[in-house]
Amino acid sequence: MSETYRLILADGPADAASSETFDSIDPSTGEVFAQVAKAGREDVDRAVDAARAAFDEGPWPRMKGRERAAAMLKAADLVKQNAAHLAELEARDAGHTIRMAKNADVGMVISTFRAVAEIAAREDDEEALPRGPGSYNYLRRDPLGVCAAITPWNFPIQMAAWKIAPAIGAGNTVILKPASYTPLTSIELGRLCLEAGLPEGVVQVLPGPGAAAGETLVSHPGVDKVAFTGSTEVGRRIMQLASGTIKKCTLELGGKSPSIVLDDADLDYAVDGVLWGIFFHSGQVCTAGSRAFVQRSVYEDVVAELVKRAEEMQVGPAMDPASDTGPVVAQSQLDTVERYVEIGHQEGAKLLTGGERPSVAGHEGGYFYRPTVFSGDNSMVIAQEEVFGPVLVVIPFEDDAEAVAQANDSIYGLGGAVWSGNTPRAVKVAEGLRTGTVWINDYHMINPRYPFGGYKQSGLGREHGRVGFDEYREIKHIHVDLNGQVRGRHPWWDISVPKRREPDVPGPETAGPKPAG
Ligand code: NDP
Repeated sequence: MSETYRLILADGPADAASSETFDSIDPSTGEVFAQVAKAGREDVDRAVDAARAAFDEGPWPRMKGRERAAAMLKAADLVKQNAAHLAELEARDAGHTIRMAKNADVGMVISTFRAVAEIAAREDDEEALPRGPGSYNYLRRDPLGVCAAITPWNFPIQMAAWKIAPAIGAGNTVILKPASYTPLTSIELGRLCLEAGLPEGVVQVLPGPGAAAGETLVSHPGVDKVAFTGSTEVGRRIMQLASGTIKKCTLELGGKSPSIVLDDADLDYAVDGVLWGIFFHSGQVCTAGSRAFVQRSVYEDVVAELVKRAEEMQVGPAMDPASDTGPVVAQSQLDTVERYVEIGHQEGAKLLTGGERPSVAGHEGGYFYRPTVFSGDNSMVIAQEEVFGPVLVVIPFEDDAEAVAQANDSIYGLGGAVWSGNTPRAVKVAEGLRTGTVWINDYHMINPRYPFGGYKQSGLGREHGRVGFDEYREIKHIHVDLNGQVRGRHPWWDISVPKRREPDVPGPETAGPKPAG
């Protein structure tokens, strides 16, 4: 009998109001291994009411930043204590190799909570109190209210932390709807937040279908902000739904990121880096370096080595520590990958390796696909559309200007890398790229202290760091007049009441407060 994972509501784990559940499948075997409570409209209403009450009347938004930070650090400690369990669950539910789940996922959750706690704690000492002539002005940063977070299946627990931590660190309450393929670690993270002593209604988790639970949440009048990571197509829909009550939105969407190999790079290192950029988590990464631009003078050598090393990668079950890459998340994603490989063939891209499913002994039902490398050009569908699977297109270029122009010829602008032995040259290329993050001689390194997000159709807003924290707050300017109380009527009020005396503040030509408009 498989375990059932329940919703996390204000007062703890609960069945869905409808009592309905759905299956969670292990992508390494294709078999059902858990049941999940399926949230519907009634559960969303209940969660929003509780989140609203916790925000409007509860202690959380009224606490000092350092008090919130203390609770978040406790949650981070609980994640650390449960690291082995969370890593295994991520491997089973999402097909993350156990190496990746242990080394990257859980560690990132802990560092995200800690980084946000640091920002929240500093907040108490940071109120700016600039003094203007004749007035006293200050800025106050307020939480937004109830936040809805909608996350994808590719990095379930990391994405949950990326949304929950800044939302609550900034004093909001949050309701997380995880992806239906991979809800389990998000539910566990919600449970650990409750265990850490966060007040009722501050963190709730509602697994359920995007088209039902997700849409209800995003369009709910009791929700003030939506933070979404997923496809650009659903991101568009989220913006439409959020427009009803002008909710604030942050969107982290698709990508088709370039990995640019300049001819002065350490080619041995760059080849490994390009492979890491695309085949990490079987290419199911929003920043996946799915287009490799390689300078013509080193193109043949680089391509030969890319192919050789791609063929040496071990594709296998997620729980096997020897696996370099695991399965893709679901049959539907495998179908998508196969469809794009077929398109690649049809449009004349040259298949250099992969392009098929491997047989993995004992795991015949798993959703495995070989690391696949095509050579092609940037106008091809496989170079323009997000495959979200282990498919790389290698494209030659002549000089740096051409590399930048081709890399920028995309509707996306999320990430990218430059591989070079000449730092000033690499920096020039990096600065020319229209993307939210560029790594020089590295890939996929996300630091929760620095902002992450996309240009163009890769998104709206940023996550992480102070910039990401401020996406969860309103900024209020409070102007306190000092003239009126001392001398009577304010000299700038331009209505037909006789003025009692000449203004005793700087004239309009000098700096100082002026009437609006
Ligand atoms: P989606 O964008 O469809 O799903 C992301 C999240 O949004 C899930 O929680 C999903 O719920 C939810 N959702 C779906 N439809 C709605 C809706 N109408 N209103 C509110 N929430 C909704 O991504 P998929 O998981 O289906 O993947 C499709 C493609 O998206 C991938 O092949 C890939 O190209 C891209 N993608 C990009 C990601 C990125 O990080 N940039 C991450 C994941 C996918 P549910 O799971 O229940 O459908």
